[in-house]
Amino acid sequence: MTMTGGCQCGALRFRAERLMDNPHVCHCRMCQKATGNFFATLVGVKKPDLTWTRGQAAVFHSSDGIGRGFCRDCGTPLFFHREAGGHVSMSIGAFDNPAAIPLEFEWGIEGRLPQIAQLGHVEGYVTEVDDADGAAKARATNHQHPDHDTEVWPPA
Ligand SMILES: [Zn+2]
Ligand SMILES: [Zn+2]
Repeated sequence: MTMTGGCQCGALRFRAERLMDNPHVCHCRMCQKATGNFFATLVGVKKPDLTWTRGQAAVFHSSDGIGRGFCRDCGTPLFFHREAGGHVSMSIGAFDNPAAIPLEFEWGIEGRLPQIAQLGHVEGYVTEVDDADGAAKARATNHQHPDHDTEVWPPA
């Protein structure tokens, strides 16, 4: 099944003709730093199945031969790959429909941060309704690319 995605600002868009059967999170420290988050969410796409339909990612070499791609305009982390390898591990959260990509496993479990076990058990729960004015303002002035391909971006 073809799936599309891109960075937050929309300067980069991609299309995957099919996904590999390895959707996972990686808890390693390098993925934490690369995403600025508790873990990376990744699914493999074979290089011939991946098309960049808009823009070209900037790449940081976190190790020799390892490229981590991101948007130079908005900073969204988009992929990780071994440059000599046959596939690219794309950020699941960057897909237009990430809910359609269930996880198969966790990688680097020894680096798993304790906050993950807190999810679902923290004291405070906040919804957008609790900050209706703030949420409405964010929506009204939203610069995020929509979750589908566009002919022209940003809109004229
Ligand atoms: Zn961007
Ligand atoms: Zn990792």
